[in-house]
Amino acid sequence: MKDADVIVVGAGHNALVAAAYLATAGKQVLVLERNGYPGGGVASAELSEPGFTDELHSLIHVRIMPNPLVADDELGLIGRYGLQYLPVEVPHAAVFEDGSFIPISRDRSMTTARIRDLSPRDADAYDRFMDLAVRIVEHVTPGFFVPPVPRSEQVAGLERTALGQEILRASGMSVTDVLAEWFSDDRVRIALARMASELTLAHPDDLNTGTVAYLAPGLNERYGMALPRGGGSAFTSACVRCIEDHGGEVRTSVHVDRVLTRGHRAVGVRTSEGRDLVAADAVLATIHPHRLGTMVEGLDPALVRTAASTRLAPYTAFVVHASMEEPLRFRADPAADGIIWNTLSPTSLAEVTRSFDDLRRGRLPAVPMLEAGCPSVGDPGRAPAGKATLHMLSMTTYDLADGGAQRWAAIAESYTERLFERLGEFTTNLAPGLVRARAAVTPLDHERNSLSFVGGDYTGIASYGHQMGDTRPTRELSGYAVPGVRGLYLTGPFMHPGGGVTGGGRPVAMTMLRDLGLPFGPFAPHPRSAEPAVQPV
Ligand SMILES: Cc1cc2nc3c(=O)[nH]c(=O)nc-3n(C[C@H](O)[C@H](O)[C@H](O)COP(=O)(O)OP(=O)(O)OC[C@H]3O[C@@H](n4cnc5c(N)ncnc54)[C@H](O)[C@@H]3O)c2cc1C
Repeated sequence: MKDADVIVVGAGHNALVAAAYLATAGKQVLVLERNGYPGGGVASAELSEPGFTDELHSLIHVRIMPNPLVADDELGLIGRYGLQYLPVEVPHAAVFEDGSFIPISRDRSMTTARIRDLSPRDADAYDRFMDLAVRIVEHVTPGFFVPPVPRSEQVAGLERTALGQEILRASGMSVTDVLAEWFSDDRVRIALARMASELTLAHPDDLNTGTVAYLAPGLNERYGMALPRGGGSAFTSACVRCIEDHGGEVRTSVHVDRVLTRGHRAVGVRTSEGRDLVAADAVLATIHPHRLGTMVEGLDPALVRTAASTRLAPYTAFVVHASMEEPLRFRADPAADGIIWNTLSPTSLAEVTRSFDDLRRGRLPAVPMLEAGCPSVGDPGRAPAGKATLHMLSMTTYDLADGGAQRWAAIAESYTERLFERLGEFTTNLAPGLVRARAAVTPLDHERNSLSFVGGDYTGIASYGHQMGDTRPTRELSGYAVPGVRGLYLTGPFMHPGGGVTGGGRPVAMTMLRDLGLPFGPFAPHPRSAEPAVQPV
């Protein structure tokens, strides 16, 4: 007796998106989530104080915006199931110790004008840089939302055009090298390098990450960035509503211990309470490549070994959430008060690089890598009238040289103090009484909250060239299906298209439906799908 056609392990946003596509195609899905809430890295909660909505993990939705899931509202998440996106016209700004300020706006002229104050030459270069960035983004983005194509095919296609050749060249370079070709002012380079490194959790000097220098600002200008109104759980709830509307179920507080196989076929799962659940057609599981061997029996040992040796990103984040009497006021420029992702940096690229270097060696840098902003200025419903939520994130490392990862529990309080001290250097109103309550989320917490975030790496595994596209997480596993076990598929940030809020469950569903002999789409129009996906506040 089957429990579902497809059992889905984990209710991260990617699994939920895949489950929603499968349910819409007529499959009966059962989603099992170990946490008491769905969403994984896309979930909001009142962390600092009741009445103030914080994001447990992801804050800004970027890469998902051009996904047909959102752009065409294929499943009706917006038109039928209540998701609303609020645009963030200026999502990111770089604020410097010398008081200079570079907003990375969708309105390019705004950014160029600010850069012109620092370097007229770089302002002209920014215009040309962004022309190229937008063309690159338009070229590569559609590939994020379909299964990865073989690298040989991709390279052959890229080699045929001048734009493609430039993408290939940049993809072998580092972010630092790409930016050095365009800009001379350290502050401009830092602004763009920090934006890129937070997308990939890579050191800006890492080779084979150079295209991200274009992707981060290009995605912003071409497709925009947005906040789900009410927080990440609003996105998740829309997915759950879609699944339930099509006869599926999302069960929380159920930990899956293993995938059950019979005759090289996935037939169900066993929960940690020892209950076996039967899947008639397939199992779609969020299993980190490092755990594949322990959750699935009988796999080729070479496949398990290669998966277990995938590399994690060198960086993670320490996050402080706070409820505040009013939004932050920045010394550099009042415009920064309305920006939710302000990176706060020294003016010297060498100094910023030193912080990345220190972290890579497990040392907390003398100058913390900090960003801060008030999400409630972009989505006022997240705080009571006049009050604000603070989201302060420090890029850091999981494994501290002195004390390992466990040390985070001991230093959470003192590190929070250090970050507030640093924030005080950039703001004018961080006086006693401004912060009502606060809560820290450490790299250890990320790993506890989601089994995908091994070692605090919330991109699943590093976004290095050899772990992207048709080799993410490994060549054998990149097609979502697990070789040797028919009917078992993988999802998670460690699969193509990678970490972040991408809606990457879409290509997984395409693959599964193809294997099940079912069409992907067409999708029914929804009452409000014709309206813009992103609504002004
Ligand atoms: C501090 C922080 C800030 C971030 N900021 C951003 C941002 O601003 N923008 C952005 O795009 N991204 C951001 N991210 C990254 C983003 O949140 C993740 O990459 C993304 O959510 C991954 O989604 P996923 O669905 O692939 O997996 P996850 O979100 O990791 O979901 C996996 C789910 O599966 C469940 N699960 C796993 N194994 C089992 C099992 N055996 N049994 C039952 N359940 C199981 C887990 O509990 C989890 O709920 C951030 C992440 C962090 C930590």
